Amino acid sequence: QTHRITNMRGLINVGTHCAVNSVLQCLYVTDDFRIADSTVASELTSVLRAMDRNTRGMPPCDPHPLVDALIRYSEMTHEVQQDADTVFKCVLNALADDGDPRCKQASGLWTIRKQQSAKCSTCNAECVSHHAATNVIVYIGENKPNKLQDYVDDYSESFRVSDYHCGTCQEETELIVTTDITELPAVLCFTVARGQRCVQRGELMVNTSAFDAPQELDCSRMSVTSQPTKYELYGMITHTGPYEFGHYAAFVKKKSKWYFVDGDVVKHCPALPLSYYNVPAHLYMLMYRRLHNVNISWM
Ligand SMILES: [Zn+2]
Repeated sequence: QTHRITNMRGLINVGTHCAVNSVLQCLYVTDDFRIADSTVASELTSVLRAMDRNTRGMPPCDPHPLVDALIRYSEMTHEVQQDADTVFKCVLNALADDGDPRCKQASGLWTIRKQQSAKCSTCNAECVSHHAATNVIVYIGENKPNKLQDYVDDYSESFRVSDYHCGTCQEETELIVTTDITELPAVLCFTVARGQRCVQRGELMVNTSAFDAPQELDCSRMSVTSQPTKYELYGMITHTGPYEFGHYAAFVKKKSKWYFVDGDVVKHCPALPLSYYNVPAHLYMLMYRRLHNVNISWM
């Protein structure tokens, strides 16, 4: 039995829990992700603690009470397959709303801070605003890089609005919007935008373009901060099948070993399992943790 072979515990999948299960496996291996009691938070705590009791032969854990708590908290239902990105955001929002500072702190591990400037191209009147995000969306397909490092090196959220009426100079002119990332988080999550509208059929299709994710990522060109910008990949959620009712599974790194976790099935993986199971065509969410500057002692 596969759940007997490793020090990771699988999670029961009754058919629609795979999105929740995949997110849970990523949260489980996230360092510093510790939370206190509340509805979603307490069920999350229980299941993460149960996942920690992972000696050989333990049966898979039951995520059901957490799924029920998420349903009570949000618009989620049992009937349809949830989107892993929606589940992830729902968990972070529930923790941020919790009131307990430790939950807020846990949720904040993923917070990206941004400053946006909207400037009139005629009179230079500028409006500055601040925003936060929990992930970076990666657009794939034609004319887009197929490597995450290239995507990050070239990353920009700037755009121009051509039919803009400026309230200051009263001109019909152009608005230049630029966004700077002012703070990179401890954990950087990327979500690959695989759902794309099919022009002929009008429905959402999954784009299975292969996408390469490096073990180590340098985000120095992405942000204007002086924080450390080197990140290490430790979690991947894959999506296979059609857009609305596909299947999610996770690859997670725990104590420098990679595991493939699909419901109650846990398998040990080779170093970086990108070349297995056609993973680059199915990568959906990627979790990178910041590498701190480590002083190596030769004593
Ligand atoms: Zn103006």
